[in-house]
Amino acid sequence: MTEAEMLQQLPDRLLPWYRANRRELPWRGTREPYSIWISEIMLQQTRVEAVKGYYARFLEALPTVEALANCGDDRLRKLWEGLGYYSRVRNLKKAAQVIVSKYGGVFPREYADVLSLPGIGPYTAGAICSIAYDMPYPAVDGNVLRVLSRLLDDSSPIDLPENKKRYHDILKDCYPPCAGEFTQALMELGATVCGPNRKPDCQGCPCREMCLGFQRGTAETLPVKCPKRPRRTECLTVFLFSYDGKIAVQKRPEQGLLAGLWQFPNLPGTLELEGALRAASRWGLKPRGIYRQTERTHIFTHICWKMRGYYLEVSSPAEGFIWLTPEEIRRNAALPTAFRQFFEGIDHV
Ligand code: SF4
Repeated sequence: MTEAEMLQQLPDRLLPWYRANRRELPWRGTREPYSIWISEIMLQQTRVEAVKGYYARFLEALPTVEALANCGDDRLRKLWEGLGYYSRVRNLKKAAQVIVSKYGGVFPREYADVLSLPGIGPYTAGAICSIAYDMPYPAVDGNVLRVLSRLLDDSSPIDLPENKKRYHDILKDCYPPCAGEFTQALMELGATVCGPNRKPDCQGCPCREMCLGFQRGTAETLPVKCPKRPRRTECLTVFLFSYDGKIAVQKRPEQGLLAGLWQFPNLPGTLELEGALRAASRWGLKPRGIYRQTERTHIFTHICWKMRGYYLEVSSPAEGFIWLTPEEIRRNAALPTAFRQFFEGIDHV
């Protein structure tokens, strides 16, 4: 039996299981492409539990494509604050502007048009077109790749682009008319029974009888991935300067890592207290006292930040910073998690 013939059995096995076992999630049940799009972009690299609150708040604040297209950048970053991978929200806005200018604010219905939008790749285009319009376009993400590699007992690396394309093409040919349900059933299997970083629950799996990985005892060794690029470590000294109940913040450059977000002043390298005080005076600040020193780590995809934070009370504010109360920072400034962790628990300074 060819791989394609094998996968033809998938809908009959998966759909009844999905209908009986699916988790209730806020974005399940909608056929509205805008909501599906927002949920799919948020769910990239982010856990379901973390996304639930963001999804509800985002749609309440920006219920339509037009609202998103017209939203100010600072407000948009604030709505995304803490979700990470901020290029996602920049692309959401760019795509919304294209939908407004090119399609009159109506989400496109053609796969090629959806795929051409900024920030939308084959996975997201497949998810939107299948779930919103029941079109036979697969959404092949890491979960689906893992399931397919186990079903087919395929030990070739799943993250090779040619393998993703091969799986996409085979899967496309076995789509049933209820394409949206099938897409979600595959995602659900890959997120639960055949989930990541744990032993697959083959006894509870509706595909056990067709699964070569299960039959041959290889499922737990799959999927195979290409070796990861080592993560580089960068050291940083972060300053929480406080004056008169306010804290100094700055906006990051509009390009590069964490573009356009807010940060506490910081310098490369790990400074001892003496060096930190010298740096403060170069900024024109006179520390009156240090009230805390702390170490924090933040991991990005390819970089690990090792940070030392100094909490310094200063005798007067200096130019070049914006001085905000903790409440103003919380309400208005999109502070990425890397810096927010220095700020947690601070109600007044
Ligand atoms: Fe995954 Fe096991 Fe189901 Fe195969 S039988 S798809 S390995 S859970």
